[in-house]
Amino acid sequence: MKSDYLKKLNLFKKAKREKWALPQFNFSSFFQYKAILEAAEEIKKPFILATSEGESRFLGLSLAVFLKKEAEKRIKVPIILNLDHGKSYEYLKEAIEAGFDMVHFDGSHLSFEENLKITKKLVKYAKKRGVIVEGEIEEIKGSSRVHKKRAKEIVKNFTIPKKAKEFVSKTKIDALAVSIGNVHGMYKGKIKLDLERLEKINSLLKNTFLVLHGGSGIEEKEIKKAIERGITKINVNTEIRLAWRKGTEKAFKRFPNEIAPYKLKDPIIEEIKKIIKEKFFIFYRL
Ligand code: 13P
Repeated sequence: MKSDYLKKLNLFKKAKREKWALPQFNFSSFFQYKAILEAAEEIKKPFILATSEGESRFLGLSLAVFLKKEAEKRIKVPIILNLDHGKSYEYLKEAIEAGFDMVHFDGSHLSFEENLKITKKLVKYAKKRGVIVEGEIEEIKGSSRVHKKRAKEIVKNFTIPKKAKEFVSKTKIDALAVSIGNVHGMYKGKIKLDLERLEKINSLLKNTFLVLHGGSGIEEKEIKKAIERGITKINVNTEIRLAWRKGTEKAFKRFPNEIAPYKLKDPIIEEIKKIIKEKFFIFYRL
């Protein structure tokens, strides 16, 4: 267990040193899972497979663990299974017991002190079991869908570098989700990241892995600048959901009388795979 933890942590270290970022792909359907796998099998690079609390409740924690293990066996690249945006200690404990490799405690809705207390307790529990922990202090706004507003209308609460340092040194988390102008979902207009702030956070937290949530809809140029300045993990969900929807609509158009789900696979897998491969190329700077 411990050596597995170190092996996985080494992936983050390598990413930070070599300036690339581990892609995190969220999923909740078998089509998404298959498409992620097919893309990863072609690219042959490690990645993070993730489920939010809602996605994992639909799939079942142990099924998510099983699917990840099967994927790793098949494609022979390391995969880290993350429980994304867990809001309670109890649920993340369940995820750890089920076999998740990483958990993200999102305590940004709590007071700083309360967040600190629970994150610390979780780190203690997780570390003993070889599980990586990601923390969050300032809430990253939005949700993984298409929004009518501009991102800057909803961005709030940027990560304060000194506060981030205090949080990391007191909790001993491995990774920190930063709020630097990023938001969950797709918005009108371009996303502008506060790169200066990111540089400051990174200079204070040299050994912490900085996570960029809201990876959908951010231009390649901006993503690469963020990676240059210390981002080592980027989460993507909305673009994968949109591709699933687009592919499904295409499939029904192409096969209007089909009732066997698997026979709809080609257009669905094709759409999702396109996004996954694109993200691999950008985040790994291939
Ligand atoms: P997007 O839905 O914007 O890609 O964000 C996903 C995410 O950050 C999951 O934690």
